[in-house]
Amino acid sequence: MKETQSEWRKDAQLRLDRKNAFDASLVVGTARFNRDTGRDRMVRQPFAKFIDPATGLIQLDMTRARNCPICDAPPGPAIFVKDGFRHVRCKACDLIYVSLILREDILIQYWREEIAWKTVLKSKPQLDMDVLKFGYGLDLASAYLNGSRDLLDIGAGNGDFILMALERDWRAVAMELNLESADSLERAGIKVIVKSMELADIAPGSFNLITMWEVLEHLTEPKNILYEVRRILPEHGILLILVPNAGSLATRLLHERSDTFGGHSHLNHFNPTSLAKLLEVMGFEILEMETVITELGAINNHLGFEDPYLGEAPVFHPALTPAVIHQNLWGSRLLTLARPAKRP
Ligand SMILES: [Zn+2]
Repeated sequence: MKETQSEWRKDAQLRLDRKNAFDASLVVGTARFNRDTGRDRMVRQPFAKFIDPATGLIQLDMTRARNCPICDAPPGPAIFVKDGFRHVRCKACDLIYVSLILREDILIQYWREEIAWKTVLKSKPQLDMDVLKFGYGLDLASAYLNGSRDLLDIGAGNGDFILMALERDWRAVAMELNLESADSLERAGIKVIVKSMELADIAPGSFNLITMWEVLEHLTEPKNILYEVRRILPEHGILLILVPNAGSLATRLLHERSDTFGGHSHLNHFNPTSLAKLLEVMGFEILEMETVITELGAINNHLGFEDPYLGEAPVFHPALTPAVIHQNLWGSRLLTLARPAKRP
C-alpha cells in the first residue's frame, strides 16, 4: 500500500487526473455547480447593513486596524474595497489581507453562530467533490507518514474529512468553534475540542497529522495557530494546509469580483510566495506545494464578458488547460504539506 501511494504521488498525470475529478467546473460546469449547491442563493454580505454611507466602509467602531499578519508591516493603500472592507497588499511579503477587520468579539460571535454555509457544504454536488478532494489530501499526506495515524482536523466543520479518515482507520479528533457543528460532530461520535488551538493545551506528539482545510484565511493571527502546531507536531509529523490561492489565474483576473474576497470572513489571501514565507518563519519545511481546482469556468466566463459564476461562455482558448494552470500554480486553491524544519 505504501509503495502504491508513493508511486501515485510521483506520477504527474495520475495526480492531474485525480485533481480534475474534484474540479467542479470541469466535471459538472460552473453555473450548474453554483446553482445545484445553492451558492447562487447565498447572502454574501452579512455585514452590509453596517456599512457607513459616508465612507463606504464598515462602521469604524466595529473594526480595528492590523498590520500584515506575516511580516508586521503597516497596511498600505487599499487595492480595492469590497463589501465595506479594505483589501491591501503587503509589498514586503505579497500577502493580500483585510485591514480594518471586524473586532475580535464580533468575529468570534460570527463563527460560533454562522450556519448559512452549511447547506451549501452539505449539498450532494459539493460532497461529491469534497470526498475526492479530501481523499487526495489524505493519500498525499499518508505517503509521508510512518507508524501511528493520529489526526487533528482544525476547523472540522461538518466533519466530512474526519469521517473519511475514521473510515480509513485513523484516530481522529476535531477542533471546531461553531456550536452547531461541534454538537453534530459529537452526536456522530467524533471527539471534538471546542476551543481555539491557543487555548486547547494539547500535549506535544499527540498527533502526527494536523490538517487545516480552508482555515488559515479566516484567522486574524495565523502565526498563533502555526506556533501551536509547530509546538505539538513531532519531528516526522505532517501539516496539511488548503487555502484559497490569491495567485490563481481566476483571482488575478477577477480581483474584487472573485468570490474569495469578502472581508468579514476571509481575512488573509495567500499566494505561493506569502504562504511559503509564513511557513518558513514559523519553522516549517515545505514538502509539497501545488494548486487544485482550476476555476476554468469562471475564467472563461469572465473572458467572455459573462457573469463569472453563472455564465455559460464557451472555452476562451484551448491552450488554457488544467495542466497549464496547475503547472504555474494558477489553480484556485493552494494545497501544501509541510513538516517541522530541523532546528539548527
Ligand atoms: Zn507582509
